[in-house]
Amino acid sequence: MTRPDSYRGRFAPSPTGDLHFGSLLAAVGSWLLARHADGAWLVRIEDVDPPREIPGASVRQLETLDAFGLHPDEKVVRQSRRGHLYQDALDRLLRSGDAFECHCSRSDLAASGGVHRRCVARSPRPDPAIRLRVPDGTVIGFEDAIQGPQEQDVSRDVGDFVLRRAEGYWAYQLAVVVDDRAQGITDVVRGADLLGSTPRQIFLQQVLGLPTPRYAHLPLVVDAHGRKLSKSDAALPVDAGNPLPALKEAWRALGQDPVMIEAADGVASLLERARAGFDPDRIPHSGHIALAATHNDGFIFAP
Ligand code: GLU
Repeated sequence: MTRPDSYRGRFAPSPTGDLHFGSLLAAVGSWLLARHADGAWLVRIEDVDPPREIPGASVRQLETLDAFGLHPDEKVVRQSRRGHLYQDALDRLLRSGDAFECHCSRSDLAASGGVHRRCVARSPRPDPAIRLRVPDGTVIGFEDAIQGPQEQDVSRDVGDFVLRRAEGYWAYQLAVVVDDRAQGITDVVRGADLLGSTPRQIFLQQVLGLPTPRYAHLPLVVDAHGRKLSKSDAALPVDAGNPLPALKEAWRALGQDPVMIEAADGVASLLERARAGFDPDRIPHSGHIALAATHNDGFIFAP
């Protein structure tokens, strides 16, 4: 029997490619933190951006998680099937006047650096986006469990943000807030590339009257040249056929003691040892962490 306040974490990949080391780190980090808290660990496929989706990627991502021994505790959900939930939230926001139709084009917003503060569209468009109104002086602060205290003036730095795109697709910010709530997520653990999105998500939770989960943003993995692994062309898939080296590398990148998992001879025994020996306080508090292995080593990447 789970207590209503018990820990529920998740890993939420977008199916824009195979699982690379940066996403594996988010998967392993969120899994370890959930297991450390005796909590549940869920997987959600964030497939709300069809133009960026790679056919077959979500299936391969799930197979890769499986090969790495990271098994979700509940049925995997797909955002592409959950449009009705996003529509309900959007309808509420439209009714309350917190969301509005926006006819501005990209060029309309160029003068304000893309930050939307009021509509300046010269002509209506057939496919308006829907944005959330962010009143002046909306400053959101939160304590990130890894990155420390954060604060952002959402009105000034981001402006009124998109909830449904002009093409009709759901925006990540809306879908993630609705789903984290619908799935009862208490702890969001993900890469630090999403640190800057968190104030938007907290503000949206506040407007919708939803509780805010705890947040922990893991350091971003960079390559030997300091380039983001997740965004660079060099974001090679991890090798699902040989998971141990990448799991060991993830353990090291999370600042954990290699001795703890030294004796492991398979995925299950490694994860069992990792679960027992994991110390959240050892996770580096930096924004970046360099990958020790290079592509030339090849050993953690798919051949
Ligand atoms: N789907 C997002 C990504 O793959 C992650 C969203 C999240 O963890 O909140 O970058």
